[in-house]
Amino acid sequence: MDHFDYRNGVLHAEDIALPTLAEAVGTPLYVYSRATLTRHARVFRDALSVLPRVKLAFAVKSNPNLAVLKVLAAEGYGADVVSGGEMERALAAGMKADGIVFSGVGKTHAELARALEAGIGQFNLESEEEGLELAEIATAMGKTAQCVLRVNPDVDAGTHGKISTGKAENKFGVPYDRAAAIYARLATTPGLAMRGLALHIGSQLSRLDPLEAAFTKIGVLMRAIRESGHAVTHIDFGGGVGVPYKAGDVFPQPEDYAAMVARVTEGWDVTAMFEPGRVITGNTGVLMTRVVRVKEGVGAPWVVVDAAMNDLARPALYDAWHDFAAVVPEGATIEANIVGPICESSDTFAMGRTIDAVKRGDLAVFRTAGAYGATMANTYNSRPLVPEVMVDGDKWAVVADRIEPATILAAERVPEWLA
Ligand SMILES: *Cc1c(COP(=O)(O)O)cnc(C)c1O
Repeated sequence: MDHFDYRNGVLHAEDIALPTLAEAVGTPLYVYSRATLTRHARVFRDALSVLPRVKLAFAVKSNPNLAVLKVLAAEGYGADVVSGGEMERALAAGMKADGIVFSGVGKTHAELARALEAGIGQFNLESEEEGLELAEIATAMGKTAQCVLRVNPDVDAGTHGKISTGKAENKFGVPYDRAAAIYARLATTPGLAMRGLALHIGSQLSRLDPLEAAFTKIGVLMRAIRESGHAVTHIDFGGGVGVPYKAGDVFPQPEDYAAMVARVTEGWDVTAMFEPGRVITGNTGVLMTRVVRVKEGVGAPWVVVDAAMNDLARPALYDAWHDFAAVVPEGATIEANIVGPICESSDTFAMGRTIDAVKRGDLAVFRTAGAYGATMANTYNSRPLVPEVMVDGDKWAVVADRIEPATILAAERVPEWLA
């Protein structure tokens, strides 16, 4: 459920008619609904309240906008960060350092040191090598790092290959068969306090059974580690719960997910941690665009819009589907190919799709663009960096400026020896 609805034939974000925002800010433009964000945050949190002890760390990479993080901080979410930059954002948004977990295979020495200094709550170690490096830094600083070991459970998440992370051939975590030995070594290394295990098998999961299989394997490992005399008090189950991108698609609901976790973890006696991203932010945003022109094509016309793969990369990266809808639909439909202006054939949002009939100058949206949307935007083809707006009832504000090509140009230098 979201708060992007038609009123009198015009698409609104909560109480704001989208054409108002297009006129004030220009297109392309991301529009977020605060009510939708809050609702998703609460639904997920409330569903998991069936578990005895829960900690939520929002996956910042799905939507790192400061205003988004502020809303989630107020809902009691911590942050799952994958870089020093994301950590600084979470702190800037007022998230407590203690509620931040740091994931990622390539945390640098400087990032580890800064995270220790900031006092973040947990390091999700992705290798023995990383653990030993962190131990050295922590010991030198006179600190102890709270850690969990990320395990690669070798389970096929059944999602797009580029967002699968839990197969043996993926770079993430330590191999399942080696995990107990690595855990034992790190647990006896000064500077580290090993407290549990973590996993994250992939994103946009449409079924719960791969998650259940992976969680079950982690339970077996947890018992083996405990039997060898080491404590396991925290299990970080990662993120990955998918959202329907196509109207009518049916996905597992947060309650189904929570019920599955409760069943699998019965009697585990752990603090259960979660790192939801897409399930919180996916539906909270749309990318609004204007039709530049409609060009005759072979079979279907090309609807050329002013948004492109640099603004919303998911279709080009993962063949992802985003529903396309006119802001003021006239009732008729056409079959069309939707493309952006970038000089790459991958700058294609949809081929042979039945859509609202649109013509030059019309406004439209790509729906479910709140996760992995603006955050992946870039300035390819010297396009501006796409701006973001948040709506809250009848209020709205620009929460990220459009960065113009001139600003980017101003950061470039011609060396003296070329001048
Ligand atoms: C990307 C990622 C997440 C969030 O994934 P979603 O599919 O957006 O829920 C959580 N944890 C880790 C370690 C990740 O890399």
